[in-house]
Amino acid sequence: MQIFTTVQELQKGMAPLRQLQKIIGFVPTMGALHKGHISLVEKALRESDFVVCSIFVNPIQFNSKEDLEHYPRTLDNDYKVLESAGCHAVFVPSVEEMYPAAISEKYDFKELETVMEGKFRPGHFNGVAIVVKRLFDIVQPDKAFFGEKDYQQLAIIKQLVKEAELPVKIIPCPIMREPDGLAMSSRNLRLTQKERLAAPFIYNTLCRSVEMSQSHNSDEVQNFVIRSFESNPIFKLEYFELVDDTTLQPILNFSEGQGAVGCIAAYLGKVRLIDVMRFR
Ligand code: AMP
Repeated sequence: MQIFTTVQELQKGMAPLRQLQKIIGFVPTMGALHKGHISLVEKALRESDFVVCSIFVNPIQFNSKEDLEHYPRTLDNDYKVLESAGCHAVFVPSVEEMYPAAISEKYDFKELETVMEGKFRPGHFNGVAIVVKRLFDIVQPDKAFFGEKDYQQLAIIKQLVKEAELPVKIIPCPIMREPDGLAMSSRNLRLTQKERLAAPFIYNTLCRSVEMSQSHNSDEVQNFVIRSFESNPIFKLEYFELVDDTTLQPILNFSEGQGAVGCIAAYLGKVRLIDVMRFR
């Protein structure tokens, strides 16, 4: 596996592939890789000729200094798991390499970013869009693979690609879970043993709310989730929203033909976890 740390190295290393018109698949990550990330790499390997993964803890998408400082970093292990997955190259730039000058871009994703993560993490998606656009410009992939776990991020990236007419196909990838249902996440490493045992409550509550949605309206389902979290004070629920799967606007009623997803964010101790489940 080739390891690139500068834009110049990467572009030099990849030039021959472009001449041969190889299909380049790209998996952007922030490292502390787990099986969820690797499932993206594996899908990319099936659907491309050459796969590049990036590892970059993007400071401008964090809105808590504490979260950035404590974000897990496991680079040596990341190299190992990427290598054994068969990934062809990894791009690990420094902050200076990604942001050599003052950052001035400002994106506006309108109602896509006024809800959920965008509402509770102001500036987060601007930071995501800036880094993803820069990474796309550097790697110039034909396809880029993103997890549905970060459902709103996926919608934002699709919009970014559409608006800027970027020549890259965005491929959504399903959520990978631990055997007890907890969505895999780099942040799970920060949970204490007690918190880790409690964590599948998020998944279990989502499953129960999907069942409930067969015979109840969206308000009732939302109240059920809010009450469930109130009765489990190890968690602090930030939001649970039932939204249209494309516009991300709250749905008033479940109806045939309208895709609906339930998105949740909750603190477990100091760790903020998110999850998503399809309702329709
Ligand atoms: P991150 O390193 O958290 O920025 O995630 C990098 C990519 O991996 C994003 O596209 C995420 O949506 C995706 N990802 C993270 N966790 C999972 C998971 N449990 N299952 C599938 N994809 C995931």
